Amino acid sequence: MSAHLLLAPLLFATVGGVHPAEPVWYARPPRHSHSIRVRIPPPAKGVKLPPIYGPTDPSRPLVVIDAGHGGHDPGAASRGGERQEKELTLALALALRDRLVRGGRIRVALTRGDDQFLLLQERYDIARRLGADLFISIHADAAENDTAQGATIYTLSETASDREAARLAARENRSDIINGVDMGAQGGVVNSILIDLSQREAMAQSVAFAELLYREAAAHTPFRSNWHRFASLVVLKAPDVPSILFEAGYITSPQDVARLSSAQGRAQTAEGVARAIEIYFARRVSPR
Ligand code: ZN
Repeated sequence: MSAHLLLAPLLFATVGGVHPAEPVWYARPPRHSHSIRVRIPPPAKGVKLPPIYGPTDPSRPLVVIDAGHGGHDPGAASRGGERQEKELTLALALALRDRLVRGGRIRVALTRGDDQFLLLQERYDIARRLGADLFISIHADAAENDTAQGATIYTLSETASDREAARLAARENRSDIINGVDMGAQGGVVNSILIDLSQREAMAQSVAFAELLYREAAAHTPFRSNWHRFASLVVLKAPDVPSILFEAGYITSPQDVARLSSAQGRAQTAEGVARAIEIYFARRVSPR
């Protein structure tokens, strides 16, 4: 077969040396139009589906907003330790939901509406099982660089755009590891997650949305100059739902924390994201 099927191990980080790294096999999408068939994970059945807010008309587009981290996984912390990423992400997810519901055009669901832990696969499985049209995972991670400030948009790629993106993906993908056991890899489910042709359309849509999001949100929220990065982020691996990870700001930046901790700052950021979502769906020509 002339399609370039490249199998290479993606190594999981180990926690305290307890958990042996599990190789995960993935395929590079072919450069030509040949088709390859690969197995994609079946939807998980364990998690209860969340309520859908907004219009009751099921033909209206549905966005699933994922507040990063939660429960025993606090995510990153501010320099003084007084703020946790899981609180900032939830507060912004709720503000974005409320703004979209007020707009009246888009249906919205949250992967979590409270302080709950979810595996990465459970997060995007909720989007798949609801038949979502768009998936947005919200984060506010620590920056390596003390002076870094502003938002960044991540889309899925097998290879990271840069070292910072690779490190972010390694940290985020570690969320599934509980007491040294990689819960996301139980039953070999993660091992079967491949980037395949069916995902390429969703990936192209994800990049289109990322560009629109920057265009609409930059008037309301500061962005980093290098605002679009990509990495192999497990939470973005729904094969059929356009997905982005929105780093709304850095929890290590006092300015970003101040913005994300105030109702007014959150409303401003939510406004830009909501406009991008509304325009994205308004532009779509194909009927559901
Ligand atoms: Zn995070």
